[in-house]
Amino acid sequence: MTFEVTILGANAALPALGRFPTCQILNVNHRYYMIDCGEGAQMQAAHFGIKLARLHSIFISHLHGDHYLGLIGLLGTMSLQGRKKPLYLYAPIGMADILAAHQKSGGLYLTFELIFKATNTEVPELLVEDDLIKVYTFPLRHRIPCAGFRFEEKRRGFSLKKDAPLAALSIPQKLALKRGEDIVFEGKTRAFTEFTEPLKKLRTYAYCSDTIFDINLLPELKNVDLLYHEATFTQEYLTRAQETMHTTAFQAALLAKEAQVGKLLLGHYSSRYHNLDRLLVEAQAVFPTTEMAIEGQTFEVLHEV
Ligand SMILES: [Zn+2]
Ligand SMILES: [Zn+2]
Repeated sequence: MTFEVTILGANAALPALGRFPTCQILNVNHRYYMIDCGEGAQMQAAHFGIKLARLHSIFISHLHGDHYLGLIGLLGTMSLQGRKKPLYLYAPIGMADILAAHQKSGGLYLTFELIFKATNTEVPELLVEDDLIKVYTFPLRHRIPCAGFRFEEKRRGFSLKKDAPLAALSIPQKLALKRGEDIVFEGKTRAFTEFTEPLKKLRTYAYCSDTIFDINLLPELKNVDLLYHEATFTQEYLTRAQETMHTTAFQAALLAKEAQVGKLLLGHYSSRYHNLDRLLVEAQAVFPTTEMAIEGQTFEVLHEV
């Protein structure tokens, strides 16, 4: 099953030439889950060939503008395109007021049902579960209420071994095997494990947008395969990071190491960094399997742990 994240924006709030504020597309089996929706998100989606028709849900971490100001334009565009499918929106409760203001004063009209659910920014919880994934939220410590997200792949049944006698198995037998049920084959009861691959660990992607360095996040991040964590500054701006409730690349790497994640993805870069290498070098010294979130790049969530 496809499970990968494409970066549409990875910059912090202040504009930087050629870089966009935070927005990502998590592609799960070709269903798209947008994570944060910074200014220009729809332009970036068009630029990188992201089909808005595949968009299923939008998750907003917090209501600083660099994480949601692309949303109203995006909703308007999907209405102009005549979208009919419902869209799910998860964000802190203040989003309800923002939407109402645009409807009342801006005449925002949608051709589809927008199903809004407020996130819990106080305690961790299961936010939503569908046929493909479970999404958990957990509080992030930032200047305003903020939540991180952990996306967990759901088990979709057993897969048949490549050397299983596929031609000899009936469709009901194959379905039973995929459900993990033993079958009668060639007159004998046979264990489903003879025909199916061993179960793999379910893949997980965790997303920590704006937050101060917080060791209390460890239980939420433990052993995830891919961790996106903001790294607004290098360690030389530690005081600035603490004042603004952001994290340095060093601290993000420390958290990744302690949580024993598979891979770390840095993002939310301050526009003071024209060249992002310093952030990467600083993080890799602590946690070598670190990469940079760069617009247009796709990172597959692999079984890393
Ligand atoms: Zn931000
Ligand atoms: Zn913020």
